[in-house]
Amino acid sequence: MKLREIQVDGYQKVVVANDEASGLKAIISVHNTNLGPAVGGTRLYPYNNEDEALEDVLRLSRGMTYKSSLAGIDFGGGKSVIIAKPEDKTPELLKAFGQFVDSFGGSYNCAEDVNTSPEDMEIIHEATPYVMGLNNKGGDPSPITALGVFVAIEATLEQKLNIPLNQAHVAIQGLGHVGQHLLNMLIEKGCKVTVADKNQKTLETLKDNPKVAIVDPENIHQTPCDLFAPCAMGGILNKDTIGKLNCKAVAGAANNQLLDEKEDAKRLHARGILYAPDYLVNAGGIINVFVEQSKEGYNKQKARQATQKIAKTLMEIFTLAEKENILPSEAANKVAEKRFKPQPQN
Ligand code: NAD
Repeated sequence: MKLREIQVDGYQKVVVANDEASGLKAIISVHNTNLGPAVGGTRLYPYNNEDEALEDVLRLSRGMTYKSSLAGIDFGGGKSVIIAKPEDKTPELLKAFGQFVDSFGGSYNCAEDVNTSPEDMEIIHEATPYVMGLNNKGGDPSPITALGVFVAIEATLEQKLNIPLNQAHVAIQGLGHVGQHLLNMLIEKGCKVTVADKNQKTLETLKDNPKVAIVDPENIHQTPCDLFAPCAMGGILNKDTIGKLNCKAVAGAANNQLLDEKEDAKRLHARGILYAPDYLVNAGGIINVFVEQSKEGYNKQKARQATQKIAKTLMEIFTLAEKENILPSEAANKVAEKRFKPQPQN
């Protein structure tokens, strides 16, 4: 396996791996380990080229530093991407990836993400101990992530917009591991839900459900609703889509929803749309992994309780933003940076 380190300003360690034998092409990025070892999922995706994969892993790993910090847990930020089609995922490729993770000696720990499962983590674990989210521990973090998204949506609607959940309309983009659980929780509370997914199979079982409307994936962000919940890929909030949003607030599971972190947050604000910072809303998964690592071992109840606090933190972020006349995304960054960045000595 060939390893090539890239120097990136503001990042602790970024390495590209190429392994001819298994076909592995992957990048691991460790953004910051001030609070603890870097933890972040492994995304398998058919990126068009290495530059595209690098851009994604850099954004995602930085996001993990902010996420863990704001969630109050002692993990650093890291992430990994494997450049491959889901159908090209083989045990050999996953084991080679495990060796790559192992080369970081514990400063980076992987977990599930888009196109990787707890079963894949078991295979990676054969080559390295630095794997989280294993089946015999916390397992798939998606249900807990969905719980965090749900409490954030509930608090945003009920406490900030004064709309009871049973009178609200939420549009969900993406019914994958997280979106599916989120949908069930919202329906259970009597919420009206509109959904879209690129994968028609996912929608089959919903066709006869009177509580769910299905729209074209191209149009889901334009749905007239109270809250838009992006639960697919990042970058959905951008200069082209924000003008077409027809909602009062955005809160969802997807990482890096703002294509341009600063400009798109400003665009949302200018349109009077309240934005719940994604890395706070979707922190349930990393909280689950943190509980998994505790000395007492994994405790689902503890993970759920810690995740439910996301609602309180979100309300504090909205309050801070109003008080200091800054955007919610800026307020979130401010609180997160205070924890992980060394404070200047007076
Ligand atoms: P997933 O791959 O299981 O689901 C994504 C779904 O979105 C799929 O069903 C896919 O068909 C659909 N999709 C993709 N592009 C779409 C589009 N343009 N329009 C409509 N649907 C589209 O992923 P997941 O685990 O549910 O995660 C969803 C998002 O949440 C990702 O951005 C992920 O990084 C983030 N996230 C997940 C977790 C977790 O615990 N799983 C934790 C934190 C953040």
